[in-house]
Amino acid sequence: MEIPQKVRGMQDIYGEYQRYFTFLKKVSRHEFRKNWFTRISTPILEKVDLIKRSIWEDTDIVSKEMYNIIDKKWRELVMKPESTAWIMRSYIENFLDETQPVYYYYIEPHFRYERPQKWRYRQFNQIGAEIIWEIDPVLDAKLIYIWKSILDSIWLKDSFKVKINSIWTSKEREKYIEALKDFFANKKQHLDDNDLHRLENNPLRILDSKNPDTQELLKFAPKVTDFLKKESKEFYESVKEYLEILGVDYVEDHTLVRGLDYYCHTVWEFVDFSGRSQDALGWGWRYDELAKSIGHKTAIPAVGFAFGAERLIEHIMEAWVKLKNKDVIQLYFIQLWDEAKKIVLPLNIEARNKWLNSQLSLWTPSMKVQMKKANKINARFVAIVGIMEAKNWVCQLKDMESGTQEEVKLENLLDHVITKVWKDSLDFYDPAKDFIIVEPIKTEE
Ligand code: AMP
Repeated sequence: MEIPQKVRGMQDIYGEYQRYFTFLKKVSRHEFRKNWFTRISTPILEKVDLIKRSIWEDTDIVSKEMYNIIDKKWRELVMKPESTAWIMRSYIENFLDETQPVYYYYIEPHFRYERPQKWRYRQFNQIGAEIIWEIDPVLDAKLIYIWKSILDSIWLKDSFKVKINSIWTSKEREKYIEALKDFFANKKQHLDDNDLHRLENNPLRILDSKNPDTQELLKFAPKVTDFLKKESKEFYESVKEYLEILGVDYVEDHTLVRGLDYYCHTVWEFVDFSGRSQDALGWGWRYDELAKSIGHKTAIPAVGFAFGAERLIEHIMEAWVKLKNKDVIQLYFIQLWDEAKKIVLPLNIEARNKWLNSQLSLWTPSMKVQMKKANKINARFVAIVGIMEAKNWVCQLKDMESGTQEEVKLENLLDHVITKVWKDSLDFYDPAKDFIIVEPIKTEE
């Protein structure tokens, strides 16, 4: 019988990759907390209506990439392909009465039925943030600044740039779209099938075209800036001014657009300028009309961003950032006798309680076999306890880096090793610092 393999386009995350993922989550969480964001997790499944109302039926996500599920009562559900609509749904259900605006971040798995390839998976993780309820250009700038701070903290500062643009309001866009359609009306013979489809169904996306012929034509196309109202221009100018105050370098790119109706004003994208890839790592957007499109009676201003964790992890791994391995075994106990095993077992526990990463060799195979294992797991020190050592309450301590060996009394062993390993490599965590004990309220009998 064949053993079932993992589902195409999905991956197991373990070992070094998992360590990078943890690092990225830690850096992001720290940056978000510094900026007053708290974490939100939304369900993986939502009713299909939510996604249909929030994302046009015509987009690739809805037409091809959705993971749909029919539950046992024949309800159509969809696995989260992006988080913004999920969070807006949750906001309307839970947070309307909270102090506004609300600041939420998420680190969540997402699902899209795409053709799997490098950096494109069917299950992937996004890290993102949303600020809901306020329309203020400083928030757009602040989100871009947070994103940049995350990249700075993981030492990718020189390889990325942020591209920004304004796509104003949907009304202004409508007028521009008409002008764009008129411009291309007698140039359709120069467009490929993809761009023709875009022109028909979602004309702004033609500005995103990768086709060099279309890009050439676009140089002569009407410019969006000619269709803007004063307020929209002022909003965009303010975002740029705040970015300058916050010290964020940006590049303006008027071809940067997003097709959906509810997007407005600022859009931005983080792109790799190091030459490693053409793909964007993530992008951000203002979406003041989303609440209305999913059925809320009024518009609710909001701004957010999302980046792909896997893409970023693979960038970090390919760049010069090498993570310390905190799971390395600092002290490995080899025991050559049942009595020795009984002696080293509590020592192993005590080592862990002193935040020294230690492990005990199992069973009692030969010294050679146990030593081989110690080598294989890259143990930093090995404490060998044989019959004589057990009787004299000592061990032979081997430094696996220098190859030297010395006899050490068991009562001194842990402190001795702790002084030799890097103090900052000890894995400190004290759960007691994370809670307070609350006295139960006594009720009168
Ligand atoms: P999107 O909502 O498609 O713009 O995605 C936002 C970010 O998520 C992208 O810039 C990618 O970094 C990441 N992303 C999107 N789709 C995938 C995927 N299939 N696999 C891995 N990362 C993805």
